[in-house]
Amino acid sequence: MTDTDNALRQEAENLLKCGLKTEVFPRADDHDQVQEIVGRLQTSDGSLEQRLVIGGFTLEMIEHEDIEQACETCMYYLVHRRYCELPELDVPVEAEWSCRLWRI
Ligand code: SF4
Repeated sequence: MTDTDNALRQEAENLLKCGLKTEVFPRADDHDQVQEIVGRLQTSDGSLEQRLVIGGFTLEMIEHEDIEQACETCMYYLVHRRYCELPELDVPVEAEWSCRLWRI
């Protein structure tokens, strides 16, 4: 865990707390939806704000089709660093946060 991670995590939290509108739905339920969202992330300006918006981030867990989609249960979550290692997101997160690219 680095100071840079902590600063970026705080910045993300502030943006979301200040009402940044993110694309929480539709969730990426199938391969085509994942590809579409990942493609948009790849062609975005790569800013933290765009990653949060296109990724559909929330500060709380989203339950979707009876599945609790929190970062802590996602395959991209690095527990000790509290970090999302999906290359197109590549961002520090909290265990209870969520995004629409959640994967088991
Ligand atoms: S891909 Fe997974 S770990 Fe990354 S932000 Fe989304 S839910 Fe969290």
